[in-house]
Amino acid sequence: MERFIQGLPKAELHLHIEGSLEPEMLFSLAERNGVQLPYASVEEVRQAYQFSNLQSFLDIYYQGAQVLLQEQDFYDLMMAYLRRCHDERVIHAEIFFDPQTHTERGVEFATVINGLQRAIVDAEAEWGMSAKLIMCFLRHLSAESAMATLEQALPFKDWILGVGLDSSELGHPPSKFIEVFARAKAEGWHRVAHAGEEGPPAYIYEALDLLQVERIDHGVRAMEDPLLMQRLAQTRMPLTVCPLSNVKLKVFERMEDHNLRDLLKQGVAVTLNADDPAYFGGYLNQNFIAAWQALNLTEEELVELARNSFLASFISDERKRSFIARLETYAQAAPAQ
Ligand SMILES: [Zn+2]
Repeated sequence: MERFIQGLPKAELHLHIEGSLEPEMLFSLAERNGVQLPYASVEEVRQAYQFSNLQSFLDIYYQGAQVLLQEQDFYDLMMAYLRRCHDERVIHAEIFFDPQTHTERGVEFATVINGLQRAIVDAEAEWGMSAKLIMCFLRHLSAESAMATLEQALPFKDWILGVGLDSSELGHPPSKFIEVFARAKAEGWHRVAHAGEEGPPAYIYEALDLLQVERIDHGVRAMEDPLLMQRLAQTRMPLTVCPLSNVKLKVFERMEDHNLRDLLKQGVAVTLNADDPAYFGGYLNQNFIAAWQALNLTEEELVELARNSFLASFISDERKRSFIARLETYAQAAPAQ
């Protein structure tokens, strides 16, 4: 089954590029840029990746991002991730970046996006994959800061597929960002938001009704509200679920407790994703493998998760059909058992 998962064509829809910064690259960029790190070794960094909740992770994540200063740093980060996609048969990726994590430190918006986009162009040429950027606003910062970021992004509009909302969820409901999401919609951008990871189902309603999102990132706490579950299933609203992240950040105590299979069974369009793989112990295939092992997912369910990833993506219907045809050809030609 692991081989089957490895070769399964799939899309990644919930991946923070800053969260793919591996400890080895953290050290090499720190050295290249003369940034002092509070760690003596790669092992010590990995030791520090023990989290009790979302905030304990975010504190370390923002610290790590400080080594990213030059356009080449962002290029190298993205290229390393896309190489991983190529190895894992991720044939399409919609990748989050957090401009404010960098602009707040004095790095220009253009420096960030030029590096990221140049790597995407090179990877597409080299491996024939497709990748696009989704710009996330940090919800612990103000709505004004989000709007200013949106305006900085306008000259790069064509490189950006949509906008999202991430960082500390509790205390920062989607309703804080109504105006900026309305503006994003007017600019023709797609909209997604993290909701219902640590926050209550009410945040999922807000994301749907007030921000008019087209996907919910995480959303696993929807299970607490039967009416919401019914609505998600009926509208086939995608949830980009991140199993390893959820266990690492104690949303679920153990992988065996994860509700993704129940969500699937109740008709919700679940996709599997890696979130911040350098911090949470694995990229997309590792998430598939961990979920399969703990929840006894069937081959049909694994294929359904991969199919959902294409259906929930923001590519044209024609490309969706072509990716799903590749998936089905694979599943028929290479059954796991
Ligand atoms: Zn996330």
